[in-house]
Amino acid sequence: MTVPDGSPGAKIDRRFAADVEAHRRDAPRFCPACARDLGLATEFWEGDARRFYCWCATCGWTGEVTTTGETVVGHEPEH
Ligand SMILES: [Zn+2]
Repeated sequence: MTVPDGSPGAKIDRRFAADVEAHRRDAPRFCPACARDLGLATEFWEGDARRFYCWCATCGWTGEVTTTGETVVGHEPEH
């Protein structure tokens, strides 16, 4: 809530916007250790899996969250 991904009026690529939307939907928001807001959730890809590297500023917990299932439909055509 404190860190907007895109400021109003900012012009961004639609593909990037879709990524931001997916990130907002899937990114973990709360620390599993102390249940406070996560300080950081960095999304990255490993093969076909989307992973979030998370760090909690409150208690110092770090960990990875991996998404599962076919929840994300690829928007990149096969090459
Ligand atoms: Zn924590």
